[in-house]
Order: sequence, then C-alpha cells, then structure tokens
Amino acid sequence: MVKIPETMFKYCPKCGTHKTMKVKQEKTARRKKGMSATARKMKLKRRGYGNLGKYSKRPVTQTKMASKTSKKVDLRLSCPDCGKKWVLSYPRAKRVEMVK
Ligand SMILES: [Zn+2]
Repeated sequence: MVKIPETMFKYCPKCGTHKTMKVKQEKTARRKKGMSATARKMKLKRRGYGNLGKYSKRPVTQTKMASKTSKKVDLRLSCPDCGKKWVLSYPRAKRVEMVK
C-alpha cells in the first residue's frame, strides 16, 4: 500500500516558485481515452480487403497473458494561487491511501 500526502511542496511552472499543492487522485478512466498509434493503423487496415500482414491474425487474448495485479496511480495537482492543474504519474501500486 502506498501512502500519498494530501498536500505536496512542488514547483508551479506558471508562478515560477515552489508552493504547497493540493493533491487529488485522478480517476483511472482518464488514462484510456484516445487511440494508440497501433489502434489507428489497425482501423485503417480493416477498411480494405486481402492480406493484412501482421494484422491478419487476432492478437493473443488478455486471458492468455499474465495479468498485472497493480494499477498506475495518477495524481492531480493544483496550484492554490494561479489555479493551474496538471497530472503527476506515480509508479504502480495495489492500493493507495491519502494521508494528511
Ligand atoms: Zn501557480
């Protein structure tokens, strides 16, 4: 389990100084938005006919691969003065707890 503080002393790129930032945990659904480069390429390939080369076979299913039991943590930092917000990626963790 990873303990994350509710406030962090971080650098604000807009103000140009270090300040105590509010920390919120970002929802994991945000990470999945948009298509990857491979997904875009496959979408184009699927439109036509004939041999699709590398994409002719279905990929190995998720069940056959060893699945990860942890998730990447995304933290949303916000500056108290200028209101700038950004996302900070944290390493993988099974459980996350916010600590004061
Ligand atoms: Zn700021």
